[in-house]
Amino acid sequence: MKIKIDNLTIVTSSGLFRRSLLIEKGIIKRVSEKPIQAKNVDFTIENEDLLVFPGFLDMHVHLREPGFEYKEDIESGQKSALKGGFTAVACMANTNPVNDNATVTHYIKCRSKETDLPVDVYPISAITIGLKGEQIVEMGDLKDAGAVAFSDDGNPVENAEILRKAMEYSKCFDMPIICHSEEKKLSKDGQINEGEISLKLGLKGIPRESEIIGIFRDLMLAKLTNARIHIAHVSTKESVNIIRWAKKAGINVTCETCPHYFLLTEEEVLGYNTFAKVNPPLRNKDDILAIREGLKDGTIDVIASDHAPHHIDEKEREFESASFGMIGLETMVPLSLELVRLGVIDFQTLAEKLSRKPHQILRLRPPVIKEGEEANLTIIDPHCEWILEKSNIASKSYNTPFLGKKMKGRAVYTIKGGQVFEVKD
Ligand SMILES: [Zn+2]
Repeated sequence: MKIKIDNLTIVTSSGLFRRSLLIEKGIIKRVSEKPIQAKNVDFTIENEDLLVFPGFLDMHVHLREPGFEYKEDIESGQKSALKGGFTAVACMANTNPVNDNATVTHYIKCRSKETDLPVDVYPISAITIGLKGEQIVEMGDLKDAGAVAFSDDGNPVENAEILRKAMEYSKCFDMPIICHSEEKKLSKDGQINEGEISLKLGLKGIPRESEIIGIFRDLMLAKLTNARIHIAHVSTKESVNIIRWAKKAGINVTCETCPHYFLLTEEEVLGYNTFAKVNPPLRNKDDILAIREGLKDGTIDVIASDHAPHHIDEKEREFESASFGMIGLETMVPLSLELVRLGVIDFQTLAEKLSRKPHQILRLRPPVIKEGEEANLTIIDPHCEWILEKSNIASKSYNTPFLGKKMKGRAVYTIKGGQVFEVKD
């Protein structure tokens, strides 16, 4: 397939440039300042308001297969990713069976290839067997099978000695430990952020200290072992401050946040809105501002969605028994563009946080827009306005507090593996 991109703005790590591209058989054949003349072109993209980014990678998603295919499966997750503008995702291990052995990792890799959709799926293996926090997985086998990181996301390893060992082993494989940092004894049975709103609604609160203490412990273990860790879904002001300090102190840490932590406050749960029930919980205005600051100064390396699909029956129920989590792949681009509109970051930094950094953390080669490179591109219309409706969501689930809300900007094409995927409603 021959694809021509005429006179669009290309976002690279060194700046924004007006360029034309010619792509043949999945490879960028030409990059030119002038329009490119070519014969037998199969597909042309020429809307000059569009921005061309290196392909996006969402490094924190839950694809639910094997075991929970009624929420999402690998194919529907890939479709959701494509619609959201992602050419790659890394999926967490809390499936059934848990991804704690090479067979499950293999299965996920194979399923993702069978679908023939141009979205790479990188499995994240559990740290411990069955996410039980007791016995460390066979890290070498999992790496050989295609795992890119280790995480007991959702079930942080409680025993510091076991986590210390896991960190030490992970160094032999140059793979990060992704920490869902939470002191579970403090957050047990908690539903939402602890504060005035939890009091008002009569729901058990999750104190911010649960995350802060969890992060501090994990950072200290990283310091002790000199291992490489990545802190998932940072939600509090103090977490940003501690990680900023840890980076200055030379601890080998990177971290991510999600759009809901830089855009929404705990007020979203008023009215017992279970679509806004998420772990860590939504916090307050000061936290939002601190997280934006962390994104701006580079303390926060990555924006990930923590895409967590749930069946409507697991959400439309009493607040206490509703599942935690929201979907996020299809709203990541418009919600992250909000940071650009607010002047928090620029387009180049957005490319860093959605493409280059997550690839680097997982030791994957980041896509580059240069002649001779694979065409792995996310093309965005930053201005188009649309409404997020159940009917236009590609995921099997629609548990998001952004449902029915107006969105600005979206991915309009993704290009990978010689294929063009055009986003349509
Ligand atoms: Zn988590």
